[in-house]
Amino acid sequence: MSKSTRLDSKENESKLLPIYRHKEELILAVKDSTFLAVTGETGSGKTTQLPKYLHQAGFCKDGKIGITQPRRVAAITVAQRVAQEMQCTLGREVGYQVRFDDCTSQSTVVKYMTDGCLLREILADPVLSQYSVVILDEVHERSLNTDILLGLLKKMFSDSAKAIKGRSFPLKVVVMSATLEADKLSAFLSDCPVFTIPGRTFPVTSTFGFAVGPKDIESAGYLKEVLSFSFESGRELKRACDLLYEKRPTVEGLLILPLYGSMPTDQQRQIFQPPPSGIRKCVVATNIAATSLTINGIKYIIDSGFVKQLNHNSRVGMDILEVVPISKSESEQRAGRAGRTSAGKCFRIYTKEFWEKSMPEYTVPEIQRTSLTAVILTLKCLGVHDVIRFPYLDCPEERFILEALKQLYQFDAIDRRGRVTQLGKLMVEFPLHPGLTRAVLKAASLGCHDLLLPLAAMLSVENIFIRPGHPEKQKEADTIHRALAAKTGSMNDFATLLSVFQLCKSSDRPSAWCKDHWIHWRALKSAFSVETQLREILLRLQQVQDFPVDTFDGDKSELFRRCLCTGYFTNVARRSVGKVFCTMDGHGSMVHLHPSSSLFDQEGKLNWIIFHDVLVTSRMYVRTACPIRYEWVKDLLPKLHEVDVYELSSVAREEVTDEEMIQWETREAAKRQPEVSTEDV
Ligand code: ADP
Ligand code: MG
Repeated sequence: MSKSTRLDSKENESKLLPIYRHKEELILAVKDSTFLAVTGETGSGKTTQLPKYLHQAGFCKDGKIGITQPRRVAAITVAQRVAQEMQCTLGREVGYQVRFDDCTSQSTVVKYMTDGCLLREILADPVLSQYSVVILDEVHERSLNTDILLGLLKKMFSDSAKAIKGRSFPLKVVVMSATLEADKLSAFLSDCPVFTIPGRTFPVTSTFGFAVGPKDIESAGYLKEVLSFSFESGRELKRACDLLYEKRPTVEGLLILPLYGSMPTDQQRQIFQPPPSGIRKCVVATNIAATSLTINGIKYIIDSGFVKQLNHNSRVGMDILEVVPISKSESEQRAGRAGRTSAGKCFRIYTKEFWEKSMPEYTVPEIQRTSLTAVILTLKCLGVHDVIRFPYLDCPEERFILEALKQLYQFDAIDRRGRVTQLGKLMVEFPLHPGLTRAVLKAASLGCHDLLLPLAAMLSVENIFIRPGHPEKQKEADTIHRALAAKTGSMNDFATLLSVFQLCKSSDRPSAWCKDHWIHWRALKSAFSVETQLREILLRLQQVQDFPVDTFDGDKSELFRRCLCTGYFTNVARRSVGKVFCTMDGHGSMVHLHPSSSLFDQEGKLNWIIFHDVLVTSRMYVRTACPIRYEWVKDLLPKLHEVDVYELSSVAREEVTDEEMIQWETREAAKRQPEVSTEDV
């Protein structure tokens, strides 16, 4: 097939989409209103077609069309698709930008991006003066950043002076979602018109299975359960499992394709291609396939009933990665994917009873279950002082906001009156967790950012360690990984990451080095790129701002860990009994070291540790940890108990009087925690 016929067929394909018949009406609707809500079944063509229509209708005359996606893979694959349909090179007229990956140019007029990227752009340009249309897509997913953008855009227009000042042409805002949330969105955006694209789906019959709870997810039995629905014979199943584990893409008659957030783009493309004749395609996907991406021709869905989710747990005061049941609406959404092109079937591996009793009706919006620290800092930097009365589509619990304020105060990003500090202004520039940013900035002030920038990059990419499915190979990989950790001379997972970065970077053949050491070369490549970008941000800031300068005399290992302590003092734990550690954040949660940590089985030698993150399965595990000395965090820990969140609440609402402030400070001083034991490593 010649190139042009292929393009023609894409063009014809897109004319078959349900949205096509409404092209002119849609263009008019956008012209006629400031806010417009567009809904329609997934797959009707909203994401790929509407920006194209608006481009054709001349909306790019004054500015760009920006389309946000909650997920990076969606932003990338959709941009690729639209670039093909519009017959241009990706990165020219049609481009994308996701965190640490900018594929746009001067000529980009249709820009797909993650919602986080648009939020960063608002920081630099609060009226989005480069855009003529902003489309918030997948709003029903209710990602934290999309929710914040909704509030900011609403505010931009209610605060009319601001919306007009600094803009020479009007801004149009389109919000798109699956059918669920349209009326609520319209009510939120001053009763804006709702445009509904009539759907076209086929019936999907669902059956239930036997799995009963999250613990089944851990066992191999769970996976077999899943696969037994797609394979009839045991031999076939076992073979497929082995191959699946070894990540080999094909097995007789079946093409196994993984689909997840951070996968490489050339692999993503395969997902959409029809399988060769006589071969069935089996996509093993995370919940990205539930709505963000539509794969044509899917007939069967196997629904695990669970999702791995980062939740803020206010009981323990931490963000925790956990496996939780999905909601009923999410399970309907998953099932619906089998009915796109013909009637389909959905096999739910869980029982009907589990569905009825353990699954909530709707998914809780991210804003109500995740840490708000980073977005609250962004809002503060945008001049939103009253973060409690910000227009939220669904309000987060007040204590979540207070907890974020408290953490920002602990990081010195805001002062006692809730105003952004000099440090806070620097911190917001980095697309990293505020704690990690603080460690990077500390290192910069000590002139040792060469230690922290690569680490921050390594912590920002997917897991770098390959875990082969085959037990023998697993042993081999474990041995090599342990040797890498031992090379650093100390038990320190952070140092191991740094060392892997440095060893690989200085190697003559870095990809071969990775292969030899069971390290994902792709992840390392992104870490190199992320490190460069973080370095650029730091250099830019150092040129325009006065940076604090500190000195330190001690060895490199101590210097490194001390920098980490300035960012991770919220994640300090002290060994209590046996192998159990107790967090020092005031919650006193009991945590264990994860078996993947190089400190695992060395617990007896440790007293104080800091850790990067928490994973909950059967226990609460901390991963990526290193030993520290109590004296390094001694002055920081009291900060964790210093603030009274109820006082901060009044600070969040409005400026308090000096008198109130003095009263509060006196009360706080009296309450300050007594010193903890100074037992050391
Ligand atoms: P919606 O946003 O309404 O869910 P989309 O615009 O995402 O719909 O999808 C419309 C059609 O385009 C779907 O049939 C989908 O399969 C197809 N499509 C989207 N992205 C790609 C891609 N990268 N490659 C091939 N087909 C794609
Ligand atoms: Mg879409």
